[in-house]
Amino acid sequence: MIDLSIYTVFLLPAGLNLVVILLLWLYYSNRTEGLEKPVAEGRLYRCSQCGYVYIETFGRPGTECPRCGAYNDAIKR
Ligand SMILES: [Zn+2]
Repeated sequence: MIDLSIYTVFLLPAGLNLVVILLLWLYYSNRTEGLEKPVAEGRLYRCSQCGYVYIETFGRPGTECPRCGAYNDAIKR
């Protein structure tokens, strides 16, 4: 019984804290990854023909829509 009380008083809260920290770390790492993806380097384009939105990473002043091939200028961010 002594061992059980030591376990519940010290080890169990410590284990729960580790689990909580691990879950928080996973949550924030996933959230920051999700935020970084749309903010990837490149210009944002919206096709004037079909409305398709895409990111071109080559930094050209204009590019062709990957869906319909129309030429588009970058949107100001
Ligand atoms: Zn298009």
